[in-house]
Amino acid sequence: MAKNKIPIIEGLFTWPSDKPQLIASKCKKCGTVTFPKAAFCANPDCEKKRDNVEIVNLSNTGTVWTYTTQIYAPPAPFKKEPFEPYGIAMVDTSEGLRVLGILTTTDNVKLGGKVELTAGKLYEDDENEYVTWMWKPVS
Ligand SMILES: [Zn+2]
Repeated sequence: MAKNKIPIIEGLFTWPSDKPQLIASKCKKCGTVTFPKAAFCANPDCEKKRDNVEIVNLSNTGTVWTYTTQIYAPPAPFKKEPFEPYGIAMVDTSEGLRVLGILTTTDNVKLGGKVELTAGKLYEDDENEYVTWMWKPVS
């Protein structure tokens, strides 16, 4: 039987979904977008009122600003099992954010290349797979 796919943390990306989107907040006064979502505007020059902030889903594509390969296991609480080296990318979204994420593969990744958001497994137990957002190169 297929295991349940559980987001590693609720509220980071839309789930379940075939095309997950990161969940951010946007200030209705100044337009500042923040990921992960925040209760107040992140712009230091803007008012700090909860009512000014609305939840928005980011577009599910982006452009690779830079990337590298993680060759050793990161410290706890981060967990990716079984561990094997994986790519990570800083990706520019059309909303002007730069979001770090694991790459589904480093094949066909290039600076300025397009990626789309997906979800992939970090680890599993007897019942569940725990997933997070990942960037998937688009050729
Ligand atoms: Zn603001």
